[in-house]
Amino acid sequence: MIHYEQARSKVVEEVGKRKGPRATTVANVWDALGLVLAQEVRTDREYPPFDRSTRDGYAVRSSEAVPGARLKCGGEIKAGDTVREALASGTCLQIMTGAAVPANADAVVMIEHTCREGDLVCFEQVAQAGQNIVPRGSEAAAAQTILTPGIQLGFAELALAAQVGAVELQCAQRPRVAILSTGDEVVLIDKTPGPFQIRNSNSVSLAAQVRIAGGEPVVLGNAADRIEDLGEKIERGLREDALVLSGGVSMGKYDLVESVLKAMGAEFFFDAVAIRPGKPAVFGMCQGKPVFGLPGNPVSTMVTFELFVAPAIDLLSGAEARALPLVEARLVEAMKEKPGLTHFLPARLKWHGAVPEVKALKWQGSGDITTLSKANCFLVVPADREKMEIGESVSVLLRKDVV
Ligand code: AMP
Ligand code: MG
Repeated sequence: MIHYEQARSKVVEEVGKRKGPRATTVANVWDALGLVLAQEVRTDREYPPFDRSTRDGYAVRSSEAVPGARLKCGGEIKAGDTVREALASGTCLQIMTGAAVPANADAVVMIEHTCREGDLVCFEQVAQAGQNIVPRGSEAAAAQTILTPGIQLGFAELALAAQVGAVELQCAQRPRVAILSTGDEVVLIDKTPGPFQIRNSNSVSLAAQVRIAGGEPVVLGNAADRIEDLGEKIERGLREDALVLSGGVSMGKYDLVESVLKAMGAEFFFDAVAIRPGKPAVFGMCQGKPVFGLPGNPVSTMVTFELFVAPAIDLLSGAEARALPLVEARLVEAMKEKPGLTHFLPARLKWHGAVPEVKALKWQGSGDITTLSKANCFLVVPADREKMEIGESVSVLLRKDVV
């Protein structure tokens, strides 16, 4: 059975191979969070546009502001003030954070390091040339490319675009990801299930995960465990950029997803991964579209989405596949697991000092979303480990939505 990292690489390889130019859309900077940029953004002028004071204090000639010196204060410069006059020798100017430093001043002395005697300002420390000044053009030159196609727009990138006046941004369209749950026992979430039925929670978690990954969910409802119904709804799903199914990929008599996909011409790259939960996960290409058959147990669906579907959505968005959000943590409770599969166990991570601490939560297995709702990560137990001791360094997969 394939290791989850190999399975993930396979997804990246196969989806990456078919990566074509994405259709684009113009998005306003207010609405572009999470989109992938499809254009270059350049500066409209130098940044900062003037020598900028980073402190409230006095603009000086550093050679004059020596310990014990007294300089006459010739006025003040506020942020936004137009500064035309150069600093006269033997004087200083009171200056505020964000204001332009006048010509001939080469340092700003923090107000805390001065004292005032009427018109005079006394200096207590040596001033270094350049201190507390960000020189004009030192962050970016004029017409410099500051954002490139393929980057995902987060709050910093959006602020940068806003700073240079790039209000409308050419972005890749979000990939449309069809979501199809399967199972005769599954009912709509607004219906009262019969005593042995369950509501379709997977379509809801998958839609949320698609959104977080940068895709546009297209929820197709539920297919019964019948070849015709599955075939029809899969056909519909293949009109989108990718199709994600939940359920119907295990060994049961009514697990028909793989065989229906096969009959529709799918080529599979894996149909089992050495993980728990999520072992029966399937990935293939069908009629040119990536198709994922995720096991139906809710936590299995969630874990396998993060491992295998999220990188495909990155690629389909025109970005690079992001690495898994794995961090090292210190185990605070010893544990035992059956070896052979890599386990992803609901766990709680706490930041205590330099090294975070993690503890697996007691749970009822891969159907237990009650416990998962209390977890902020998955503790990754390697396949060859049967016992893990208190204090060991372990790997933790963060839940992107809550950490
Ligand atoms: P399956 O992978 O089809 O064998 O389903 C495994 C388990 O997941 C069963 O207990 C199902 O009832 C449950 N399950 C399947 N689909 C869903 C769904 N859409 N929402 C919530 N649970 C599901
Ligand atoms: Mg089923």
